[in-house]
Amino acid sequence: MSSPPHTPRTSRTPDVLVVGGGIIGLVTAWRAAQRGLVTALVDPEPGGGAAQVAAGMLAAVTELHYGEETLLALNLASARRYPEFAAELTELTGHDLGYRRCGTLAVALDADDRAHLRELHALQQRSGLESEWLSGRECRRLEPMLAPGVRGGLRVDGDHQIDPRRLARALVAACGHAGVVFHRAWAERLTVGPGDRAAGVVTADGTALEAGRVVLAGGSLSGRLSGVPEAVLPPVRPVKGQVLRLTMPRTPGPLLNRTVRAVVRGNHVYLVPRESGELVVGATSEELGWDTTVTAGGVYELLRDAHELVPGITELPLTETRAGLRPGSPDNAPLLGPTALDGLLLATGHHRNGVLLTPVTGDVMADALTGGELPEEARPFSPRRFSAAPALSEQPA
Ligand SMILES: Cc1cc2nc3c(=O)[nH]c(=O)nc-3n(C[C@H](O)[C@H](O)[C@H](O)COP(=O)(O)OP(=O)(O)OC[C@H]3O[C@@H](n4cnc5c(N)ncnc54)[C@H](O)[C@@H]3O)c2cc1C
Repeated sequence: MSSPPHTPRTSRTPDVLVVGGGIIGLVTAWRAAQRGLVTALVDPEPGGGAAQVAAGMLAAVTELHYGEETLLALNLASARRYPEFAAELTELTGHDLGYRRCGTLAVALDADDRAHLRELHALQQRSGLESEWLSGRECRRLEPMLAPGVRGGLRVDGDHQIDPRRLARALVAACGHAGVVFHRAWAERLTVGPGDRAAGVVTADGTALEAGRVVLAGGSLSGRLSGVPEAVLPPVRPVKGQVLRLTMPRTPGPLLNRTVRAVVRGNHVYLVPRESGELVVGATSEELGWDTTVTAGGVYELLRDAHELVPGITELPLTETRAGLRPGSPDNAPLLGPTALDGLLLATGHHRNGVLLTPVTGDVMADALTGGELPEEARPFSPRRFSAAPALSEQPA
């Protein structure tokens, strides 16, 4: 029989314990602490996770997909918050986030791509979004390093970028400022107390961490915390993405002025130029479980497609190859707020838009934790949409 968990002598049981210190758990903890809640966070390596790999596009408009119009509203709400959010975080922590309001150009390389992009443009217009159709020549005037074969494109001045690694570091610092207590440990199991209420977690070394409420923000691992009743376990899965980092020369001028992206033979490829000189090339999308191997095929395809867009990249030093896991959900939208288990909330499933959705997630989760309810804009993202189960405490014994 395993020994009973021991409870550390803490001065006060926190109001909130966040499980997972990726950008989503961190922003939740920061905003909760700012609202006066005593907050703790458990993660062996806070500030790690998918943000260490992500490109950091803030692409509400160019990431619009058919059937994701509800998600669009949340993405736009978060994009609108970004300038103030980034300024607040930088002022508080002194960290430069690499927030760059540079816009995005989505281009087509052949007739099929152009037809696809025209459809996307029509969808954007129907959705009231700002984007402008450009001829191939106009695209190259904006971005002279583009391949001569570019057949047209969409100029989206409202889709920006941030450096997610810097964002994660700044959020760790902001949590520190706000008094969030970090437990550098792995949460092994959720504890459920009397009255079927989430009461905390037990860590890998057997320590019991108690809390008034628990927020599960474990990214792609959110569905794996033991002790979470089956009915409320988030249906989140890992979606692998491989990404390359190249270094651009400082002179004679920038290789690219803005994010450039395209669909090449059905594969999405983007090039995100940072002010630091880093050029991020991404990303594959693979359903391979928890595999994070960088493969020759993945690197080859990214370089091949990026080279078709911007031939000059083959001259650049390749400085990093890495794979990360997006927390995918069944409808590609996040799961935010209270679950059917009293005291357990979710902040997960942000899939390919977690960096973009960081500001709105922090606000929505702080509202849910202080007011008990999700604000209007987040109601469609309640975890309850995946289970018709009533609150577990309301179920007959
Ligand atoms: C290749 C790639 C490119 C991307 N590009 C973009 C982009 O351009 N724009 C954009 O908006 N988004 C992008 N994303 C998506 C974005 O990175 C993610 O949606 C976001 O980082 C998810 O953050 P998270 O905090 O929910 O999860 P994660 O980053 O996965 O963090 C989860 C954390 O929880 C911890 N954890 C899990 N379980 C436990 C446990 N039991 N106990 C303790 N700790 C636990 C883990 O250690 C980890 O630190 C990209 C992602 C990838 C992989």
